[in-house]
Amino acid sequence: MSAIILNGKSLASDFESEIKKETEQLISRGITPTLATILVGLDPASATYVKMKQSTCQRLGMKSIAVELDEKTTTNELLNKIHELNNDDSVHGILLQHPVPSHIDERKCFDAIELDKDVDGVTCLGFGSMTMQEPAYGSCTPAGIMRILEHYDIPIEGKHAVVVGRSPILGKPMAMMLLNKNATVTICHSRTKNLQAIVKEADILVGAVGVPKLIKSDWIKSGAIVIDAGYHPQEKCGDIDLEGIESLAYAFTPVPGGVGPMTINTLIYQTLLSAKKLVE
Ligand code: NAP
Repeated sequence: MSAIILNGKSLASDFESEIKKETEQLISRGITPTLATILVGLDPASATYVKMKQSTCQRLGMKSIAVELDEKTTTNELLNKIHELNNDDSVHGILLQHPVPSHIDERKCFDAIELDKDVDGVTCLGFGSMTMQEPAYGSCTPAGIMRILEHYDIPIEGKHAVVVGRSPILGKPMAMMLLNKNATVTICHSRTKNLQAIVKEADILVGAVGVPKLIKSDWIKSGAIVIDAGYHPQEKCGDIDLEGIESLAYAFTPVPGGVGPMTINTLIYQTLLSAKKLVE
């Protein structure tokens, strides 16, 4: 049997229609969902990511406020800007684009974002709250993956989930989200021994390493659910070698068109949820 394709691209497009409708309803009640994006410096990749987020907002009828700060901005100046946006009732979500220039204390600035406006799920408080199953927005890439799994009714409870990668925005929150859905979770990283053998045990495998095709298709157990969070535009592949995956896996995310499109969608969805709280 051929594996289920977890099509994040078409799912994001379906979700966009719903978000647009709900945004219109909120606007008719006097609330325009608003995301403030903060870009510090001139990194071209970061500028492109921020533009994509702003244009998705606008396409769906939301407002986006673009804050662009000079490369030489200090930690204190950035903190002041974040406090200003925290205190602005018309702003429902704040996104600080990573990475900021290296002289800035990025962690301190992330953590200055109010929990209620942390729609990108980057604060320590947000991570801790999510882990403890208290209200918080999840980090967008893993939260987007959970929305894909939920939409396709992929069973998680009791499964052995192996997350390869432990970054603050992806691997760690991914592991906690799967744990909260009663998976038995193993987290692997660059010092893990026998990675191949651990991957072979995975009922649910998440590749989040940032190395093209690091995880080989012949490491994957037959019938596994395979989630590839990586994307390497030059090599046109993710972190998992998906060769022959259709006849091997139970379900898999393609690259491109799997995890990627759901990340921005989740950011915008969480901004909508934050705005909706004002009428609930
Ligand atoms: P990251 O911060 O560089 O973290 C990579 C993780 O992989 C680290 O925990 C590292 O371990 C681990 N790792 C590296 N080499 C390894 C190896 N040989 N064996 C086992 N583990 C290894 O990357 P990230 O930000 O989490 O991103 C991971 C991937 O997801 C990238 O391909 C990125 O492009 C993609 N991504 C996609 C989206 C999206 O919107 N679709 C968003 C974010 C990221 P250590 O901790 O030991 O160093």
